[in-house]
Amino acid sequence: MNAEAAATFNPESTPVNGKPRTKAESHIGEKYGRLLISGLCDPIKNEDRVAICLCDCGKEQRTRLAPILAGRVKSCGCLSRELTIDRNISTAKHGMWKSVEFKTWGSMLARCYNANTQKFHLYGGRGITVCDRWRTSFSEFFKDVGMRPSSKHSLDRFPNKDGNYEPENCRWATDEEQNRNRSVNVNVTFNGETMCASEWDAKLGFGHGVTSMRIGRGWTVERALTQKPRRSPSPKVVS
Ligand SMILES: [Zn+2]
Repeated sequence: MNAEAAATFNPESTPVNGKPRTKAESHIGEKYGRLLISGLCDPIKNEDRVAICLCDCGKEQRTRLAPILAGRVKSCGCLSRELTIDRNISTAKHGMWKSVEFKTWGSMLARCYNANTQKFHLYGGRGITVCDRWRTSFSEFFKDVGMRPSSKHSLDRFPNKDGNYEPENCRWATDEEQNRNRSVNVNVTFNGETMCASEWDAKLGFGHGVTSMRIGRGWTVERALTQKPRRSPSPKVVS
């Protein structure tokens, strides 16, 4: 008990010979949350009794008894200050919770893990996942993908557009870049000549989509462009 507390210590409101004098006094010595009720202020007519409390943080606090007993007041105020600080720290850590990058991260998780999401069947419903590192931490995600370069960019799974969300398979790309790299339009270089897959189809007399399908299946460029299709090419053959 500090000097001030000692000065206001009121023997009248403490138990006498261990026997509480009133119902309010029976709470002296009890602890609620961080508050130890060490005494009561003199009753004031028509007012709630005011308790003298010692908080875990060391501060003495006078506060109405009823809210303490009801559990609405649990400390001198230090508890809610600490909770607010904790919240601020975790938000300030990335300081980006209103950013496009944060929203992108959130919708990526929703597409893969929230079956109520509109496009879930195209993502989580098809077994597409987010790597653990990104799933559990926006900061890690942001470290890997960085800031969105412009409002025309969106998160693109590349090179495997059917693959998972992970550092090796994600980038920011414009719609144009994403379309260009859909497998049909992927550039293929063979014997020093670079053309997109559909151009190779035409040059080699393959059916439409044969080259991109083969590359997409992981064939080497040489095998994809030199192995004759089993059936004669027809414009109706589609990957
Ligand atoms: Zn306190």
